[in-house]
Amino acid sequence: MPRDVLRVCALYPDLMNIYADRGNLQVLERRCAWRGLGFELTGAGIGEPLDPAAHDLIYIGGGQDRDQALCAQDLASPAKRDALHAAAAAGKVVLAVCGGYQLLGHGYAMGAERLPGVGLVDLETVREDGPRLIGNVAIEVELPGLDGPGVLAGFENHAGRTRLGPGAQPLGRVLAGHGNDGADGREGVRSGNVVGTYLHGPLLPKNTWFADWLIATATGREPGALAPLDDTLESGAHRAARRAAGL
Ligand code: GLN
Repeated sequence: MPRDVLRVCALYPDLMNIYADRGNLQVLERRCAWRGLGFELTGAGIGEPLDPAAHDLIYIGGGQDRDQALCAQDLASPAKRDALHAAAAAGKVVLAVCGGYQLLGHGYAMGAERLPGVGLVDLETVREDGPRLIGNVAIEVELPGLDGPGVLAGFENHAGRTRLGPGAQPLGRVLAGHGNDGADGREGVRSGNVVGTYLHGPLLPKNTWFADWLIATATGREPGALAPLDDTLESGAHRAARRAAGL
């Protein structure tokens, strides 16, 4: 039975919110409201509990290395780690952007320091010498329930290089930009309803088709079952982001 309220928990909403990643939450809220669906937003910061049964979508934005370090310890604490694993195992949607994405894996090595990851997906991130991976980016993505591949366009800025282990599948194929490590042509990770990506933008205002996939999946609907919206402005934003990436 599809749910008529999308219940979102933002993890570390103050610390993990680089490039106004909070805009992703506003898009989810508006697109629910425009369709007559409810939207509930809860925040869970450092030391605060996460109830895996109380949310349909768990969101982590991007962050600077120093803010990530604070969050990493908390996310890897048994209470948060177990709750996040329980949510993922129950098919809840997890969306993590950039710094949040890096924390989904086994760890993030920053020189002599290694931040623990929450171990939800098989990936490792390393901050290497060499330039930050910065710029507009576009990837081709295939998602269950959609007719064909779609394009996600956004902006990336990360020092960490992420390498997927054999147990992980990328979210998409790089069409333009750097992606996970600037070399292997892969971007992000997806394991069932757990999605990680380097795309800011923020991601969802520029890619509302993906916002709708998240809403549908998190509320137990087929993507095609959501009422269509007038996306004239949103389509323009998507086209502009694609053009910026050189598509
Ligand atoms: N601090 C991380 C890095 O530089 C992630 C940055 C971000 O979230 N934009 O790799």
